Amino acid sequence: MPHPLPEGPDERYAAYLAEGRICIQQCGDCQRHVFYPRLFCPHCHGSSLTWREVSGKGTVYATTVIRQRPDKGGPYNLCLVDMEEGVRFPGRVEGPAPEDVKIGMAVAARIKQEDGNPLVVFDPS
Ligand SMILES: [Zn+2]
Repeated sequence: MPHPLPEGPDERYAAYLAEGRICIQQCGDCQRHVFYPRLFCPHCHGSSLTWREVSGKGTVYATTVIRQRPDKGGPYNLCLVDMEEGVRFPGRVEGPAPEDVKIGMAVAARIKQEDGNPLVVFDPS
């Protein structure tokens, strides 16, 4: 019987997302949070990473407007959000006009189904 490949951190992250949970890793050695998912802590190289769900609270660190023709869906926002846990997530802020998304804006993460895939997006909070 062939053994299945061990599940990698990216697969685990995607599986949590599919369950409706946004999870990141926390290092058992230095206690810092880790994102993107990895096998080893980027801070101390420890390997005792465990998963926990994020609060979802964050602030916009960087924002940009992607210009698109209206028939392609119109302009949209792309941003980097500093989460309360100290990790940085890529995503987009939905709700305000893309150019009204400002650095320092308080946002909350949510999972949106898009084209059948779960995606992390942010709402102003
Ligand atoms: Zn560590």
